[in-house]
Amino acid sequence: AIAATVGSGSAEKKEMYKDPSVPVKDRVEDLLSRMTLEEKVGQMNQFVGIEHIKANSAVMTADELKNNTANAFYPGVTDKDVERWTAQGLIGSFLHVLTIEEANHLQSLAMKSRLQIPIIFGIDAIHGNANAPDNTVYPTNINLACSFDTAMAYKIARQTAKEMRAMNMHWTFNPNVEVARDARWGRVGETYGEDPYLVTLMGVESVKGYQGALNGKEDVLACIKHFVGGSEPINGTNGSPTDLSERTLREVFFPPFKAGVEAGAMSLMTAHNELNGIPCHSNEWLMQDVLRGEWKFPGFVVSDWMDIEHIHDLHATAENIKEAFYQSIMAGMDMHMHGIHWNEMVVELVKEGRIPESRIDESVRRILDIKFRLGLFEQPLADTSKSMKVRLSKEHRETALEAARNGIVLLKNEGVLPLDASKYKKVLVTGINANDMNVLGDWSAVQKEENVTTILEGLRQVAPGTAFDFVDQGWDPRNMDPAKVAEAEKRAKESDLNIVVAGEYMMRFRWTDRTDGEDTDRSDLDLVGLQNELIRKVAASGKPTILILVNGRPLGVEWAAEHLPAIVEAWAPGMYAGQAVAEILYGKVNPSAKLAITIPRSVGQLQMIYNHKPSQYFHPYVVKPSTPLWPFGYGLSYTSYKYDDLKLSAKEVSQNQNVEVSVKVTNTGQRDGVEIVQLYIRDKYSSVTRPVKELKDFARVALKAGESKVVTFTITPDKLAFYDKKMKWIVEPGEFVVMAGASSADESLLKETFILK
Ligand code: BGC
Repeated sequence: AIAATVGSGSAEKKEMYKDPSVPVKDRVEDLLSRMTLEEKVGQMNQFVGIEHIKANSAVMTADELKNNTANAFYPGVTDKDVERWTAQGLIGSFLHVLTIEEANHLQSLAMKSRLQIPIIFGIDAIHGNANAPDNTVYPTNINLACSFDTAMAYKIARQTAKEMRAMNMHWTFNPNVEVARDARWGRVGETYGEDPYLVTLMGVESVKGYQGALNGKEDVLACIKHFVGGSEPINGTNGSPTDLSERTLREVFFPPFKAGVEAGAMSLMTAHNELNGIPCHSNEWLMQDVLRGEWKFPGFVVSDWMDIEHIHDLHATAENIKEAFYQSIMAGMDMHMHGIHWNEMVVELVKEGRIPESRIDESVRRILDIKFRLGLFEQPLADTSKSMKVRLSKEHRETALEAARNGIVLLKNEGVLPLDASKYKKVLVTGINANDMNVLGDWSAVQKEENVTTILEGLRQVAPGTAFDFVDQGWDPRNMDPAKVAEAEKRAKESDLNIVVAGEYMMRFRWTDRTDGEDTDRSDLDLVGLQNELIRKVAASGKPTILILVNGRPLGVEWAAEHLPAIVEAWAPGMYAGQAVAEILYGKVNPSAKLAITIPRSVGQLQMIYNHKPSQYFHPYVVKPSTPLWPFGYGLSYTSYKYDDLKLSAKEVSQNQNVEVSVKVTNTGQRDGVEIVQLYIRDKYSSVTRPVKELKDFARVALKAGESKVVTFTITPDKLAFYDKKMKWIVEPGEFVVMAGASSADESLLKETFILK
C-alpha cells in the first residue's frame, strides 16, 4: 500500500544539494525542487525497523496479522517490502532500529534511491541509548530530576548523543517534559516530576546537551514530548482524555515546551490524548497558533505511534484514516510515526486538491533542514569499527555512576543508616528488585549482565566482609510465591538485618507483565502482589528492616513509612544501581537527592501536588490524613543542615526591579554533604488564585562538616508574573512571601515578605 509510484523529477541541474559548502537553506530548496510528490510524502513517513517487524511478527497472533486495521502494526508487511520502499526513497525516517548494522543496512538502501536522501533514525534514548544493546544506561529522568542537577542533565544528554551517533542514530525522543501530576499514570518515571520550573530546567539542559550546535557529528536531534497534557489524564490511564483549562496549560504544562523551543529543540512529538475535546494530533490551536505562531517553533512535529490513525479509530473525529491524515496535516503535522497507509493516502489527498502541495513542501523543508544540519548527507553511515570506542566509555560509565549516587532519595532513617558492617554481619536480602536488571528502568532493553550491577551484587561489592543471604522472590510481583515469602520470613529471624528491595516491574521486554511504564497505569499506588506481606513478615523478625524502592511512579508505602526504620527511594538508577544503592546504605556516599514529586499516601489523595491552590485543603479529608507521605523537595542526608538569616535586598520594590535573596546554610552534622537549597514564592493576594507556593530557584551546595555558606538568589520580575483574568501575562503589585529551605514543607522553610509597588 505504501508503494506509490516514483516519478522521474528533474535530475539535470547541477546537484547543488550535495555540496556541503552551499548554505543549508539553498541545499533544501535545490533538493525540494527535484523531488516528486511521492518522494516528498516519503520524507514525512517514519517506519519501524525491519528487525522489529521480524521479532514482533513472530509473536503476533494470526488474527492480529490478518486484521488489516490501524491497530495491527504492519499487516502483511515483510522486511523485503520495507527494504524496497527504502531504496525507492519512500521512507524518510525509521524508529526502533536497534543496531548499527541494521541502521547502516537501511541507510545503504536509501543511498541507492534516486536522490540519495539519507534516513534520519529516531530512537527512545530516554536515559542513555538504553533500548539498544551495549550502551551506557543512566538513571531514569525522575531519578535525575531528584538530583536537581541540571549540569548533569546536560552531561548525560551530551554523552548519549555521542553514543547514538556512534550507532548511526540521530534523533532521540526525549526529553519528556510533561509535568507529572497523576501518580497512577505509568509514565511518571520518564518525566522530571511535578514542578514546572524543575521540569523546564532539566528539559532545557537536555535539549542543549543532545543537540549541541546541531551541526556536528556528535549532535543528535532532541524531541520535546508529548504535546500536551497527557500527564494529567482524567482517569490516570495513558492516552485517556485530558481536560485542562487554558490557564492550567499556560501556567503548568506549556512552560517546559516553550522553554524547550527557546533552547533550540527542533522536533516535538504530539500527545496520544485529546485535549479539551480535540485530539492533540489534529489540534491546530496547539500546533499552529501556540507552537508556531506564539513560540515561533522552526522545527518539525512528529506524531506519536499510530496516533494519527487514532484520530479515526479511537477519537472518532475522522470517519476514516485518510480523513485523519488530512486533519492532522492541515493542523500542522509534519511526520507520521509508523503505519502503512500514509504515503498512498497523502499523495491522493494532494492529487485530489484537498491538501496543497505547498503545505507538503513546508513539512519536507523542515525535515530536510535537519538532515542537512546533522551532516547526514556527508556521513550517512557510521563506522562499525569505532562504535564501541565511544559507547560504554569509562567517562560515560563514571557519569552514570555519579548520577545514580546523586538521584537516590533517603526518605526515612531512624539511625540504622549508614550501616555498620561490624554490627550487621549477616544480612538478608530479598524482594523482586533485589537481583534483577529491572534497576535499568523503562525504555531499556536487556543489557549484558557484566554491564549492570544489581542491588545484591552492589552490596556484595561494597561490603565484602558481610554475609549476604539472598532469598529470590522472582521478578514478577503479580506471581510471587507464598513459599518464598515464608522462606524469607524464616531466614529474616536468622539475620542481623534485612533489606527488602521492592517496587514495580518496568522492563519493556516483558511488556504485558509490567506494573510500571508506558501503558501500565494503576488504579492504586500500593505495592503489587505479596510485596507488602513480604515486608511485614520480614519486619516481624524484630531485626531492623530496610526498604529499598525501585520504581517509576510514587508508591503509597504507608505501612512501611510508619513501621520500618529506614526507606530509600532508588527509582531506576541505571547500570550502576547496585553500587550506588550499596554505597549509600554503607555511608560511602552521603545521600543528597530530594523528591521531584510528592509521594502521596494513597490513590484517593490524588491530585496531590505541592503547588496546589490555597483552597485545596480548606476541608481536609476525614479518617485519613490530608498530608503526603513525603512532600516535594524532601530528602534526608547523613548530616544535618540549619538555615538562618533569610534576607531580602529590599522590603519594597518597584516594577521591573529585582530582589536579591540570601540565606545562610550550615552543615551542622559530622559529615560532608550536598544540600539542595530551595527558593519558593507565594503571591499573597492576587486577582486570580495562585498556588500556595512555587519553586522559583534552587542550588546544589556542597558543605563540609561544620561549614556555612550564604546562598543567594535573584528574584527577577518574571518570577512574580502570572496570567490575569484576561490571560494577559502581568506582574501585579502586592505582597510576596519568599520562602527558603530544605523542602516544600512549611516547617522546613524560612519566610520573609516584600511589597511590590
Ligand atoms: C510513546 C512515545 C515513543 C514512541 C516510540 C509511543 O508509544 O508514547 O513516547 O517515543 O512510542 O517508541
